[in-house]
Amino acid sequence: MTRAERAKLKVFMDAIDEFLETAPVTPALNMIRDKVLRARVQLIDHTLPHKDSKALAKRTWPRAAWISGAGRYASVAVCRDLTVILFQELADARAAKALIDQTACGGACCRNHYLYDLELNQRIKDAA
Ligand SMILES: [Zn+2]
Repeated sequence: MTRAERAKLKVFMDAIDEFLETAPVTPALNMIRDKVLRARVQLIDHTLPHKDSKALAKRTWPRAAWISGAGRYASVAVCRDLTVILFQELADARAAKALIDQTACGGACCRNHYLYDLELNQRIKDAA
């Protein structure tokens, strides 16, 4: 998701917040309110950058030369330097790893690259 798309999403979510705060409290509206809140939590969880993902990555890889990006999915290279790039989407992390697998991650690449899910705290198996 691009920065512009995220900005649009934030405008939409702010409008939802305003609606939830000002709409009258009736049983029918409360049911909708619950649905909207659940959908909103999912949107935040899955599309907005995880504020703490970088801090979590620093704890996971304290020796990392650098950590960039944001999100739960990490493309990790353990070659000359340990480097980490974070992504919100697994597909993007896979694409990044595929690229360094093909082209090498740097001067002293030894092809030691893997994907990691910070939320589940485990390595992600390569796609079959
Ligand atoms: Zn490498």
